[in-house]
Amino acid sequence: MIDLLTDSGTSAMSSNQWAGIMQGDESYAGSPSFFRFENVVQQITGMPLVIPTHQGRAAEKILFSILGGKGKYFVSNTFFDTTRANIEFSGAEGVDLLCEEGKHPTIPAPFKGNMDVEALKKFIIEKGAANIPLCMITVTNNSGGGQPVSMQNIKDVKKVCTEHNIPLFIDACRFAENAYFIKLREDGYATKSVKEIAQELFSYADGCTMSAKKDAFANIGGFLAMHQKELAMHCRNLLVITEGFPTYGGLAGRDLEAIAIGLNEVMDEHYLQYRIRSIEYLTNKLIDAGVPVMQPAGGHAVYLDAKEFLSHIPVNQYPGQALVGALYIHGGIRSVEIGSLMFGKYDKNKQLIPAPLELVRLAIPRRVYTQSHIDYVAEVIIEVFNNRHQIKGLLITEEAPLIRHFTAKLKPV
Ligand SMILES: *Cc1c(COP(=O)(O)O)cnc(C)c1O
Repeated sequence: MIDLLTDSGTSAMSSNQWAGIMQGDESYAGSPSFFRFENVVQQITGMPLVIPTHQGRAAEKILFSILGGKGKYFVSNTFFDTTRANIEFSGAEGVDLLCEEGKHPTIPAPFKGNMDVEALKKFIIEKGAANIPLCMITVTNNSGGGQPVSMQNIKDVKKVCTEHNIPLFIDACRFAENAYFIKLREDGYATKSVKEIAQELFSYADGCTMSAKKDAFANIGGFLAMHQKELAMHCRNLLVITEGFPTYGGLAGRDLEAIAIGLNEVMDEHYLQYRIRSIEYLTNKLIDAGVPVMQPAGGHAVYLDAKEFLSHIPVNQYPGQALVGALYIHGGIRSVEIGSLMFGKYDKNKQLIPAPLELVRLAIPRRVYTQSHIDYVAEVIIEVFNNRHQIKGLLITEEAPLIRHFTAKLKPV
C-alpha cells in the first residue's frame, strides 16, 4: 500500500515535466531537447561539458573505466554501492573516509556526511597522489543515512586536492537536498537561494556524476559533467559504444526534457521545505514513541535501528529483514534491509560475519505521499514496535553466492 523501497525513479513528475515529454525532439543527433538539457546542467554546475547517460551508474561506469585500473585508489566521504562496484570492477580500490560523527547513528550533528580531511591528507601521503586519480564527495551521503556535507568541508577537501593535483568530483544525486541543508544549518547561507548554494558547491568541483532518478524527479536518466576537455573526449568515445551518440547518451529526447525541467523544479524552496520537513516529521514522531531511529533525520529516508528495535533477535537471524517483513504484513509498507542480509559475509565455518549496523530504510519518493500517508506509516511502525516481542527471527532457505539480498528466500525461525 505504501512503497518506501527506494526514492530512485519513483518521483511523481509534474504537469510541466509531462508537457515537456510531449515536446521531446527525437532527432538522432543535435536534438533541441539535448541543448535545453545541456543548458540547464551548465547553469547549475558551471561545467561546460555535459554528457547524458541512461542513469547514474552508466556515468560511473564510463568515468571509472577511464580513470580506474589496478593499483589505483579512489577516495570519498562514502561511495554509493554502484559507484564502489564500478571502481572495483576496474581493478581499483574505493576508500571511504567519513568523518567521526558520521559513524554514530544516534548522535545528532549537522553535517554527518562530511569527509575526514585529516584522514584524506594522511591517505594521500601514504599512497601517493599519483595513485589517486580522483576524489569524490557524495551529496547527500546516501549510504550514510542521507546526511549532508557542509560547504566548508567541500572547500577544505578541494584545497587538499588542489595541493596534490587530484581532481574533485561530486556525486550529485541529491545536490538540492544537500544545498537546502546548507541553507538551514551553515553560517552565512540563510539568505542565499538554493540555486546560488548549489552553484557555489559545484564551483569547487572539476566534474560530477548524477542520477536524474533522484533530485531531477525523472523516472530514468543521468549525466556526467566536467571542465576538462581531454577527459570529456575519452568519456564521449566510451559513451558512443555503450550508451549512444553524445547528444542523447542512453536517453530519448523526451527524457532529456523531463530532466531539464526537473532540475529547475527541485530547487524550489517550498518543495524542499516540505520534503525535508516530512522526513523530519516522521523521524520525530518515531523518536517521541521511543522507536530507535537514526538521528538527525536525513534528506530522503528514515532509518530504523533494527538491532535495538528487535533486541531479542540475534543478528544471525536477520532482525532487519524480520522487521521489513513485519511492516509489510502489519501495514502493507514496503521498506528495505540495510544490514547483514545485504552486507553480511560467511567465515570458513559458514558462520555469519555480521554487518556493523542492522538498519531498515524507509525511503520517501518525491512528491508522492501526503502528510496522511506519513501519519499512517508512523502509526504502523509504532504498533509494530509495541508488539515487537511477537516478531520472530529468520533463517535463509535459499541464497545466491553474490548479492544474495536481491533473491534470497527466508522463513521464520
Ligand atoms: C542512485 C545513486 C547512484 C546510482 O544511480 P542509478 O541511477 O541508480 O544508476 C549513485 N550514487 C548515489 C549517491 C545514488 O543515490
